[in-house]
Amino acid sequence: MSRIVVGHLFPDYLNIYADRGNMAVLERRAAWRGHELEVRAVNAAEQVRPGEIDLYYVGGGQDREQELIAPALAAMGEPLEEAVAGGAAALAVCGGYQLLGRSYRDQSGDDLPGAGLLPLHTVAGERRMIGDVLLECELERGERRTLAGFENHAGRTILDPGAEPLGRVVAGFGNDGSSGYEGCRAGRVLGTYLHGPLLPRNPWLADWLLAQALAHRSGEAPEPLAPLDDALEADAHEVSSARARTRGGRS
Ligand code: GLN
Repeated sequence: MSRIVVGHLFPDYLNIYADRGNMAVLERRAAWRGHELEVRAVNAAEQVRPGEIDLYYVGGGQDREQELIAPALAAMGEPLEEAVAGGAAALAVCGGYQLLGRSYRDQSGDDLPGAGLLPLHTVAGERRMIGDVLLECELERGERRTLAGFENHAGRTILDPGAEPLGRVVAGFGNDGSSGYEGCRAGRVLGTYLHGPLLPRNPWLADWLLAQALAHRSGEAPEPLAPLDDALEADAHEVSSARARTRGGRS
């Protein structure tokens, strides 16, 4: 039995489409394996505490909320980089994903600073990209998985040359509606536009994050977690994937 500490960045501001539900999934799936998971709110750079937090999480939010917290989140850049260099994992969704990049130019043309943890920048476009999404991912070599979720964003995210996307778009818009890629991965740091909330429909991703968090805690390589009966989760994934598929390919 281990203890896992999750740092939830700006939980009162970035929590659109019940992104907080991702925390409930992590807590339950950890508990079912006998691990205790504590979620701490992180609202200022000094609360980042590299080494103490195993997994950082930041949810989505509209431009207005992003504008309110962007300077404080950008100020966390250095301690977050230190934490990640020490093996901490991170998951960022939509508005939080945009703000983990270098910058976000919002719909009113204002440039919001980012924390610079992911090699990308985002610029808002005219048309919102909305609907169900299906991705194909390979976080571990040879292990192909699908991720199903829902996107709603005006931001177009451009990855730096050579940056690794989280997945390939099977159906939906993804990062910018044209590259064919979605999200970004830098080691144990993942960013994505997928809400859902994301983790209830994609339990394999919740387990991947828990394995990274446990590896940070133990200082050893990530190990697979004991399997769970995921029949309900598999149904949720299937319903969501089917909705995305009927929407067709990229539009
Ligand atoms: N404000 C951002 C956009 O529209 C993010 C929206 C969100 O988090 N759903 O691109």
